[in-house]
Amino acid sequence: MNKRKKRYHTRKILITTAIFASSIPILFSALSPTNKGKTEAQVSVPVLSKNENRALRRYNNNYHLKLAQAKGLEKPLVSKDEYKTSPKEFGRRYDLDKITDNKYYEIPHLTNSLPYLQEPAVEFLDLLGEAFCDQLEELGIRKYRFSVTSILRTIEDQKSLRKKNVNATPNNSSHYYGRTFDISQTRFFERGNSKPVYTYRLRNILLRVLIKLQTEGKCYVLLEGQTKCIHVTVR
Ligand SMILES: [Zn+2]
Repeated sequence: MNKRKKRYHTRKILITTAIFASSIPILFSALSPTNKGKTEAQVSVPVLSKNENRALRRYNNNYHLKLAQAKGLEKPLVSKDEYKTSPKEFGRRYDLDKITDNKYYEIPHLTNSLPYLQEPAVEFLDLLGEAFCDQLEELGIRKYRFSVTSILRTIEDQKSLRKKNVNATPNNSSHYYGRTFDISQTRFFERGNSKPVYTYRLRNILLRVLIKLQTEGKCYVLLEGQTKCIHVTVR
């Protein structure tokens, strides 16, 4: 190889290396789940209007209970014993699906409930997650997950809740039937981050999405003041 050819060859290698090196960050960002957009703190979200607040209290607990009883499990489970002795059998026996953290929501350690719901309620949670993410995208906000804090309760769970919480109804609860769950009003997680963010902005966005789904006849939503929960029963 003569000198000129050799120089050309070296230059070619250098250029190729440079192009390759400069494309690494692009490649990396395409593969990694980056969270684009503003943080919730960088946006302003209007507070709920009187009408919106009214919509969130239109269907009281009685509606939730009647609906859950009509569509959900035949009768409440007495305790978690059955689940504890055969967790694998449990879902199959009652035709319930286990839910776990996904890209839309996070389930903290549950003390007074089990992470099981009937299929339509599981599907609804994903629908809600998708609609919430779409709304965030529309507002230029990065992706956040909401937190599902109470799911399927047994009679024993309800009894122990009653001691701590005035909102837990004494004898009956829609949480017995596999169609009802609670979402934290203010606890969210930025996607890819395990540290919770407490925010009323995301709460209001999520509540607006829920009002829309309620208007479409997909669910009943009840804003529980004292527990800071959003109580949802799937129709
Ligand atoms: Zn509830």
